[in-house]
Amino acid sequence: MRARRNLLLFLAFIAATLAVCGVTYQLSLRKATADQKSLGSAQLQIVAMDLESILQKFETLPFALGFQSDVRQVLLHPEDAAAIDRLNRAFKIIQRQSHAVHIFMLNTAGMTLASSNWDEEFSFVGRDFGFRPYFREAVQGRAGRFYGIGNISSEPGYFIAQPIYRSQDQVSGDAPIGVMVVKVDLAEFEHTWSSSDDPIALTDASGVVFLSNRPEWKYHSLKPLSAPMQRELEGTHQYADLPIAPVTTLPKALQRGFGEHVARPVSKLGWELMLYPSRARMVRSATLATLAGALFMVALAISLLAWYQHRRRVQERLESRDALRRAAEELDLRIAQRTRELTAANQAIAAKYDKLQQTETLLRTTQNELVQAGKLAMLGQMAAGVTHELNQPLAAIRAFADNSVKFLARGQTAQAVENLEHISSASANMGKIIAQLKGFARKSGDLVATVDLRQTIEAAALLLGSEFQHHGVDIAIDIRQPASITGDVVRTEQVLINLLRNALDAVEDTPRKQVHVVLDIEDGQAVVRIRDSGAGISDEVAPHLFEPFFTTKSSSKGLGLGLAISSSIVQAMNGQLTAHNHEQGGAEFIVRLPLQKNG
Ligand code: ADP
Repeated sequence: MRARRNLLLFLAFIAATLAVCGVTYQLSLRKATADQKSLGSAQLQIVAMDLESILQKFETLPFALGFQSDVRQVLLHPEDAAAIDRLNRAFKIIQRQSHAVHIFMLNTAGMTLASSNWDEEFSFVGRDFGFRPYFREAVQGRAGRFYGIGNISSEPGYFIAQPIYRSQDQVSGDAPIGVMVVKVDLAEFEHTWSSSDDPIALTDASGVVFLSNRPEWKYHSLKPLSAPMQRELEGTHQYADLPIAPVTTLPKALQRGFGEHVARPVSKLGWELMLYPSRARMVRSATLATLAGALFMVALAISLLAWYQHRRRVQERLESRDALRRAAEELDLRIAQRTRELTAANQAIAAKYDKLQQTETLLRTTQNELVQAGKLAMLGQMAAGVTHELNQPLAAIRAFADNSVKFLARGQTAQAVENLEHISSASANMGKIIAQLKGFARKSGDLVATVDLRQTIEAAALLLGSEFQHHGVDIAIDIRQPASITGDVVRTEQVLINLLRNALDAVEDTPRKQVHVVLDIEDGQAVVRIRDSGAGISDEVAPHLFEPFFTTKSSSKGLGLGLAISSSIVQAMNGQLTAHNHEQGGAEFIVRLPLQKNG
């Protein structure tokens, strides 16, 4: 799109440049032509004035010569040889002084009587010039003027002839008695013109060039001559009977410069001076002007390009500044939005935290209540065991008491005392059991105290002792290292009771009924392992082990709360309750609790 536009602009520029060059060329060519012409005109004026002044100078010479005393003597007495000789000599002297070519005198028949070249090889004396137009004019009483090539000398020249009258002041109106002729050489003009580059030509009335700084043009006509004109030239032998052809018949090279020209009339003979301003110079000057025009266009193009580039740079700078500002604004917006989001997230977190706290509180109460409920449920289960446990010593106490009464009645004091001691020990045992129950029934607070795990294990085992016995389960307690933790005695005991009861349930229907409890310290933690010889934990049960209300037992036996509560109790004391199947069979439950810190 942009490249297309650039191409169009470029083409438009080229077209404009061509148009400017064309117009400039035309205008400057016209101007150069006009300039050259006016220059040529000025030059021609000078040349013409020069020529006119020469012609003028010689115009009066034949007339003045008419005043020579021997002139009339010779004309009236052509046989006077002495007068002729004097006149001849006088003519020669005057001819030399005036720089004329020849001075000669004709009688009315056109015969030369005296001449400045009387003593030369081609003397005019005795020659007949009656056919020359200047003679014919002068013999009729008018001044005769003629340009032509001399018949005898073959030299071109300008002939001026004046009539000579009998009387010096010519008042009588007589016919002339002779004609005085001066021949002038105009060749010197050609020399002065040779310095001009432009062709200059002098033509006669019939348009034949007879003087020019282009020698080849001489005796050629500017236009083809008409037949009568040709005949007239032949009659006057003006150009020594040279064939007169137009300049345009010359070879092309010799025609160089021929064409447009300025002209100016000279003399009374209908001559015309021509100057041909150099076409090449005009073209050169026009070309120069065109070149200047082209240069101007190029400069203009460069300036426009520079201006356009500058404008684009400014625009780009503005655009990038805008873009920067927009980016900054966007960033501000984003920051504000992000801040809002973060604030919202913060508030959400705070709300969640509040909710979590509420939930935790709820859980804690629920847990407490569940512990309590668990205890109550267990109380029912334990009632039988307790009853059994208390019934035995109670029966024993009654038997000992009955026996003591008998022994005392018989006066056997020693046996009576022994029986009473048995009673005392049995009731002490009963007290112990009751104390345990009392502690279990009490709702525990967040009591933090030192818990001696050995004591707790033994207390739990004792509490379930009758049940183990009842089911013929063998329980072994292995205290490898005594350990104390910081926590709640009752809850810890409850955990162990739960685990022991589960172990008991697990081995109930197996032939080898064995439960093994180990207390040890591993990796700085108190560890209680309770392992049974049961069937172990099946793969279906394992993932749900610690879920509340998950049980595989009948509703009379289990609610599925034991492990859930136990786990949460252990976690509350920063510990961990795990379970796995032992490699030698049966399940092993492991309680890990942080050791009490010394001091
Ligand atoms: P309950 O004993 O009331 O069923 P628990 O949470 O104590 O509730 O135990 C959940 C389940 O875990 C039991 O029903 C039993 O299937 C399984 N379980 C617990 N202890 C053992 C064990 N020592 N050996 C095999 N299975 C056990």
